[in-house]
Amino acid sequence: MTGLPEAASIRGEALACTDLLALEEFRLRWLGKKGEITGLLKGLGAVDPAERSARGAAINALRDIAQTAWEARKAELEVIAEQAALDAGWIDVTAPSSARAAGRLHPITVLLEEVIDHFTGLGFEVASGPEIEDEFHNFDALNIPKDHPARDVWDTFYTDRREIPRTHTSSVQIRAMQTRKPPIRVISPGRVFRNETIDATHHASFNQVEGLLVDRHVTVGHLKHTLETLVTRIMGRKLETRFRPAFYPFVEPGLDLDVQCVFCNGVGCSICKGSGYIELIPGGLVHPKVLASCGLDPDEWQGFAFGMGFDRMVMMRYGIDDIRRLYDGRLQLVRQF
Ligand SMILES: [Zn+2]
Repeated sequence: MTGLPEAASIRGEALACTDLLALEEFRLRWLGKKGEITGLLKGLGAVDPAERSARGAAINALRDIAQTAWEARKAELEVIAEQAALDAGWIDVTAPSSARAAGRLHPITVLLEEVIDHFTGLGFEVASGPEIEDEFHNFDALNIPKDHPARDVWDTFYTDRREIPRTHTSSVQIRAMQTRKPPIRVISPGRVFRNETIDATHHASFNQVEGLLVDRHVTVGHLKHTLETLVTRIMGRKLETRFRPAFYPFVEPGLDLDVQCVFCNGVGCSICKGSGYIELIPGGLVHPKVLASCGLDPDEWQGFAFGMGFDRMVMMRYGIDDIRRLYDGRLQLVRQF
């Protein structure tokens, strides 16, 4: 972004500090009350309102980068100072011990535990299934017939034996309907696989959380309420939502739930492509053919189903704008709601 310092040069500056005194100067320069980042944040008021939100997020990201770089270099320099003292033949037993970086749970794990807690509170159970599936559970039972072009939509990997690294956790829903008696309420979190070119918004392996409810007299209203309360819980505040009709072979009617873009608060930005909304959760009422393929009478039972691209939800909540960061071990959290 124009006029902002480069993250790499901030990191480089921290690494270039060879003693704690120089590092303190680094801290004051970047993170101090009169430091550069505080100055940039104070200057936000004069920025065009259309750019303010994105610029504010970028400055906050720089602050986190400076903070992390400072902490990491401080720990290194303390170890070096300690070693120098030992080499010199004396030890200060009153000195505080050097800081050790503590591990923490990955954002995917943190959010997944919250989502599981939310749904178990509503009476759902967590179901799991194999990551390598057969065509029946991944496609046939979901009303996606053989040779139907819809199969191409999922960019499927196949093994030499025509097994499928599952393209969605909908296969777990099929297994749930085959093995349980209604009423059924399950969620199926898990890793799925698609033959995608990896970039900022796509990955060949990512996480989904799907949900399924089968009961009598189930309507779109039940689905709408379930998803809206989920979004409020995850984002910590009520966001504008909208439903759009969509086609998926395993639901009728099919819907997409869009959520107000948290990066621009609905104003429109590059992440939401100017629409102010992010497409978050597809769903719908379970197609009668899907119920029948699992041995349930569609005249007696109805259901709703939905599937979240869970990584996208994690990215929205923590302000991560590149899906690769979730998996490459260089994760820095910009924002937490
Ligand atoms: Zn936006």
